[in-house]
Amino acid sequence: MASITAAGLPVPHRVAVVGAGMVGLSTAWFLQEHGVEVTVLDREGVAAGSSWGNAGWLTPGIATPLPEPAVLKYGLRAVLSPSSPVYVPPSADPRFLKFVAGFTRHSTMKAWKQAMGSLVPVNDLSLESFDLLTAGGVEGETVEAKSFLASYRTEAERVTLLEEIEHIHAAGQAIEFEALTGDQARAIEPSLSDEIGAAILLKGQRFVNPGAFVHALADSVRARGGKILDAATVSDVRDTGAGVVVTTREGSVEEFDAAVLATGAWLGDLARRFGVKNVVQAGRGYSFSVEIEHVPNGPVYFPAERVACTPIGDRLRVAGMMEFRKPEAALDPRRIKAIAEAARPLLRGADLDHRQDEWVGSRPCTADGLPLIGATKSPRVYAVGGHGMWGITLGPVTGRLLAQTMVTGKQVDALRPFNPLR
Ligand SMILES: Cc1cc2nc3c(=O)[nH]c(=O)nc-3n(C[C@H](O)[C@H](O)[C@H](O)COP(=O)(O)OP(=O)(O)OC[C@H]3O[C@@H](n4cnc5c(N)ncnc54)[C@H](O)[C@@H]3O)c2cc1C
Repeated sequence: MASITAAGLPVPHRVAVVGAGMVGLSTAWFLQEHGVEVTVLDREGVAAGSSWGNAGWLTPGIATPLPEPAVLKYGLRAVLSPSSPVYVPPSADPRFLKFVAGFTRHSTMKAWKQAMGSLVPVNDLSLESFDLLTAGGVEGETVEAKSFLASYRTEAERVTLLEEIEHIHAAGQAIEFEALTGDQARAIEPSLSDEIGAAILLKGQRFVNPGAFVHALADSVRARGGKILDAATVSDVRDTGAGVVVTTREGSVEEFDAAVLATGAWLGDLARRFGVKNVVQAGRGYSFSVEIEHVPNGPVYFPAERVACTPIGDRLRVAGMMEFRKPEAALDPRRIKAIAEAARPLLRGADLDHRQDEWVGSRPCTADGLPLIGATKSPRVYAVGGHGMWGITLGPVTGRLLAQTMVTGKQVDALRPFNPLR
């Protein structure tokens, strides 16, 4: 490792990573690959944020930007109804209004194509980045999805995703698929009910138990000499000109060579003072797990209902909703019920009335649908997050490329579109 980076700064030897989710821990792990000493601070603990109860899909083939014309049209129709899969409560919060204005501006086909083009190079490295982690000693498992079925009541409902797949292909993203009838889909996946009349089988994707994987990642960071501090709420990060001082609300003050802010839906709290003006808005989602007679072989997706199901051990995790509220707001049981009722007619043998692990978490969403990855206006303070619906899929590749940028000081080309100061 050189002692001076291409940017003319000393290579950081001691780095603080704020946030012990998939993104922060992946960055810490890949920094360790370059010999950097890491301390990860989290105000609660490992996987306390959105990295726990999410759907765990590792699906680079459909990791697309959230703002697009169809989502905007759908979102506007669904506004204000507590049982609809998208919930936008009335709000006069200026940051939220800025997010909505930006999201609307980016919901054009032209903006989508440009953003999709930016995601393709990182999507392409995403699964191999998981393999680097597991080959490097992370005892977590990623599972090949023997089947990944996007399932619909009618062929007409399926058109939206078929069109999106055409656009995904046109942007250069590989994704293999097959259009199936309802009977063909049920032959593969008996837990689909008779209501399902059409499906799309996506190939080459994987899934993971996200909480278990992130804990395995944390164990590996610790085993390689990294420190992970729970109950460490970072209240201030200051660039002194020679290093970075990190202060916690619990009373610790420590100096590092550099700091990485990886605080998910809370990214703005610490990153704003370093020139990161992009709003990271919580797009809250809910999940729970149920018993099901036949545990599916892979994810089952009901796009029209916005419900995502994933086999986790011997249970089925059912997830959904996009609720634009503050990340710390309480779980709203009406949303859990809405997801259960949307899934009920479509799943066979699922015990939706005996739910466990009811959970709410926040997708860290940006208005242009792209993550924020890189140096802030301080060359010693980095921001990383805002992956929206895809922070599990893209966490490891993000950490890998950011660590490379930090130790070489050279901008990695694939990260250029994600400049946090854009
Ligand atoms: C319902 C649902 C389903 C999803 N499904 C998928 C999926 O199938 N595939 C996929 O790729 N993605 C999925 N996502 C998105 C994914 O969960 C997120 O993008 C990802 O977890 C973000 O990771 P992160 O590390 O940036 O944030 P987080 O996991 O939220 O981590 C941030 C951490 O920072 C800590 N923190 C915050 N502020 C401070 C502070 N001041 N000091 C110290 N610590 C602090 C928090 O405690 C938290 O632990 C889903 C999300 C939801 C809600």
